[in-house]
Amino acid sequence: MKALLIIGDGMADRPSKEFGGKTPLETADKPAMNHMANMGICGIMDPIAPGIQPGSDTATLALLGYNAFKVYSGRGALEALGSGMNVSDGDVGFRCNFATVNENLKVLDRRAGRIDDAEASKLAESLKKVELSSSSMEFTFKNTVQHRAALVLHGSKLSSAVSSSDPGVDGEKVSVIKPLDDSPEAKFTANILNELTQKFYEVLKKHPVNVERVKRGLPPANIVLFRGAGTIPKLKPLNEAYGIKASCIAAVPLIRGVCKVAGMQLLDVKGATGTLQTDYMAKAKAAVQALKMGDLALLHVKAPDVASHDGNFKQKIEVIEKIDHMLAYILNKIDLSETYVALTSDHTTSCTTRSHEGDPVPVAIMGPYVRRDDVEEFGERTCAKGGLLRIRGKDLMHILMNLIGRAKKFGF
Ligand SMILES: [Zn+2]
Repeated sequence: MKALLIIGDGMADRPSKEFGGKTPLETADKPAMNHMANMGICGIMDPIAPGIQPGSDTATLALLGYNAFKVYSGRGALEALGSGMNVSDGDVGFRCNFATVNENLKVLDRRAGRIDDAEASKLAESLKKVELSSSSMEFTFKNTVQHRAALVLHGSKLSSAVSSSDPGVDGEKVSVIKPLDDSPEAKFTANILNELTQKFYEVLKKHPVNVERVKRGLPPANIVLFRGAGTIPKLKPLNEAYGIKASCIAAVPLIRGVCKVAGMQLLDVKGATGTLQTDYMAKAKAAVQALKMGDLALLHVKAPDVASHDGNFKQKIEVIEKIDHMLAYILNKIDLSETYVALTSDHTTSCTTRSHEGDPVPVAIMGPYVRRDDVEEFGERTCAKGGLLRIRGKDLMHILMNLIGRAKKFGF
């Protein structure tokens, strides 16, 4: 038996007054999702715990069966790992932004005009040559998408207990990074980051790419802001926990990082971008293929969360309908006599508040021996009447592993 877990990032929502008191899932035309609900067992799920607003990182850890309260150790290392960087035990990873500052280090644009990938790559290349005053450690820096980048500090005397240099809003000065505890490691790490901030600025402010940008009337990417310090969480990978071969189809570095620490194989899918324009069918085909090769595949689609953060209810409906087409293709192509398919969301993202909320999400599981219930439609309220009742995110993987015969007996 095999299992496929499909996660629509931020797909669950709150009812909208503007749209007749319905959610995007309740409004969308989604025959495949409804088929799953109809043929399967449904429920609602608190990704972390009731009322807790999950990040995509903590929620995905939970959906893979881990206790996020215990294992989560910050976002930066996961993002760096998911971007293809090496992060070892003891290393500290950071999320970074190329930004624009004036000569007083006041932030004018936290995204440096969303600089394009080609220009960001040239800047990142120059930053690799920066030398640190301490010889006991090294760093790696990589631009990812547009203004985004990741930094990893490699060494043995580092700490993730440091503040961020990102003031979070335009118009304020770059923050001095401070240690968040009294350890010498935190002090050392903060000093290194402040040194990097200064040295990166010296390189970037006179870089030819930025000189050109200013000539074209564009904001120069003349500083790098560091935030989200994190280390690699210590987890028992899924292959060890359940003896399965698992793979992940996701474009977003953060999700790829989580899946990597969980021991999943990361599949590269051409056209999968983690944006609204992602190639849904390419992802569907990759999922069908992944199920032939292993026991568990995770298929993650970022687009519903993107539409929600933009507050775009109509666009979210369109995205859900595209996911439905993708699901229909998958259900057609896989062997349903030996596959369990679970469909859910990693958290609720409200189009009204434009942020992650602590409301539960719907979940449906279809497969050969599920106890089919009376739910006929996939949605936040319909699924609440299903046979799974209300579960927590970390229960889902146990439920799937039980269904595919990979759970281990507890007790004699
Ligand atoms: Zn998410």
